[in-house]
Amino acid sequence: MHLGYVAWRGVLGAVPRPTVLVAPAGMGDLELLSGAVEAASRAFSPAGGLRMLVTLEGISLPMSLMDLDRMQYRADDVNRHLASMFEGYLEPHRRMLVAVVEGDGYIPGLNFVFGLATPGIGVATVYTKRLWATSPSLYMERIAKEITHEVGHLLGLEHCSNPTCVMSFSNSVGDVDRKGPGFCDSCTLKLSRLIG
Ligand SMILES: [Zn+2]
Ligand SMILES: [Zn+2]
Repeated sequence: MHLGYVAWRGVLGAVPRPTVLVAPAGMGDLELLSGAVEAASRAFSPAGGLRMLVTLEGISLPMSLMDLDRMQYRADDVNRHLASMFEGYLEPHRRMLVAVVEGDGYIPGLNFVFGLATPGIGVATVYTKRLWATSPSLYMERIAKEITHEVGHLLGLEHCSNPTCVMSFSNSVGDVDRKGPGFCDSCTLKLSRLIG
């Protein structure tokens, strides 16, 4: 019995926490980004927690990923580009990347997106332009919520109908401000199973 217990513990110990690498793309304020990542990582604690790391080295995105008529990044192309850049590192649901992009993004059919997650490749992006606020703490809070939301998608969560939950869909920055920084009880439960 005792050995069995040790072996079981050993297996659990060998399973690493999911890891999220957060990389700035054109976003120069690393202090603000680090604060946002710290806040985002706190949101995952009730579900068991994950590892979130900020890279000091920024990513530069090629101009070909930007629609010059709209001056917006094509978010789905950006995610695919990042997946090829980080090939070998990424493992969907286990080792993921979130790039925080200075600028605006869209996908066909939507005027803009605050962020986009592509769970199948383990990549998400957050776009800062429409989250900007004169108050640095509000700006940081918004970025934290969007990172948390996109990582929730990367781990397998869908949108939530609870308007205070960070997984609720945001149509406007007012929606971003209205929702809370964390997951509702139902999403926390789902998340704890997904994090395993
Ligand atoms: Zn979403
Ligand atoms: Zn929820």
